[in-house]
Amino acid sequence: MKFGFDIDDTLINLREHAFLIYREKLNMQLPMESFYSLQRVEIHEPFGLTDEEGKKLWENTLETIYYTDCPIFPGALKTIQDLKYSGHDIYYITARPHKHGERTKVWLREQGFPIEDDKFYYGMKDNEKINIIHQLNLDYYVDDKPTVLRTLKNIDTTPIIKDQSYNKEYREATRLFHWSEFKHMYEKSLKHNRKR
Ligand SMILES: [Mg+2]
Repeated sequence: MKFGFDIDDTLINLREHAFLIYREKLNMQLPMESFYSLQRVEIHEPFGLTDEEGKKLWENTLETIYYTDCPIFPGALKTIQDLKYSGHDIYYITARPHKHGERTKVWLREQGFPIEDDKFYYGMKDNEKINIIHQLNLDYYVDDKPTVLRTLKNIDTTPIIKDQSYNKEYREATRLFHWSEFKHMYEKSLKHNRKR
C-alpha cells in the first residue's frame, strides 16, 4: 500500500507549538482555550493581530516554529514506523516553503520518522498537492486541511482528515481523532473495499 501524509498539524502539533511561542514572544498569557476554539488555521487572532501582522509574525518566527521541539501527535510516529516495518510505502507531502524542505527532512529523521529521499515532497501550494498524490496513485492520504482533501474528490485515493478545531464541518473524509486508531481504520476500509 502507498500511504501519503501531510506533516504540519497532521503528524506534528505545529500550530499549538507556535501558539506557545507567540505567547512567550508577545508576552501575552492567553488561555489555551483561545487556541482550542480557533475556527481557522491561522493562530494570530487571539493575540489581537490583523491578518497582515499575523502573516509577518509567522514568517519572522518560522525558524523557531519549525526547528525547535514541536511535539509529535501521540501515536503518529509509531504508526508510521509500523507501516514502514510492514513493507508499505510512506510518502510525505508538505507545503512547507521550498527552502525549508531539506532541513525539515533532517528534523523529521532526527525525530525517528523513516524517510526515503524520493518519497519526500515539499514546496508546492496546497491546491497543487493533488498532482503529486494523483501521480503517485496513493491508496491513502492524510491531511488536516479540507481545502486539500476537497481536491481529491475525483481520484481513487482514500482521504483521511486529521481532526482539528477548524475542520469539524468537513464530512467527506474519514476522520482520524487519534493516531492510535489509524491502523484499525485502514484495515476496516480494506475489508470494506474487498467486499465491494
Ligand atoms: Mg497541515
